[in-house]
Amino acid sequence: MRTMRDTKIPVLIDPKKAARQGISLDGVVPSKHLKRLLESSCGACSDVKAEITFGVDVQGLPYIKGTATAEVSLLCQRCMKPYHQGLKAEFCYSPVDETENLEALPEIYDVIETDEQESIHLHHLIEDELMLAIPLIPSHSNDDCFSGNHDVTIGDIPNVEETRKNPFAALASLKKRN
Ligand SMILES: [Zn+2]
Repeated sequence: MRTMRDTKIPVLIDPKKAARQGISLDGVVPSKHLKRLLESSCGACSDVKAEITFGVDVQGLPYIKGTATAEVSLLCQRCMKPYHQGLKAEFCYSPVDETENLEALPEIYDVIETDEQESIHLHHLIEDELMLAIPLIPSHSNDDCFSGNHDVTIGDIPNVEETRKNPFAALASLKKRN
């Protein structure tokens, strides 16, 4: 097995070839290459650390297995102040091209399709995984939050319960008048 340490993670890679060669990568993706992740953070986003192993499993299927970690600034939805959130993604893909039968693929693998050059965009894969690792409702841990209120409230969603009650409330006030 060949391990390349502290390298820049390549943007494109031929995953089947890398799998046959048993390549391991241990390196960084500069955050400036990850536009969507940058846009999701409110300010700082660290470079991404990634460890990725390419190999062939006992069934002869090529795989891409790895972890990616980063630290981003997110806006706490309780106190609306920025905080640092560690993101960690673990992934396990099997590369396929359009001619292959996806149904034969074991469930442990996510599918990633190779392009005409038999390559995949490794930076996009890592970015996709980290985007999924962003909490749905970002917030401080209870102790760190500047808000005394520990219930997360979402401003823009109308309170359905209130809207439902209103017609009856209106009706009740009409009755009172009669
Ligand atoms: Zn907070």
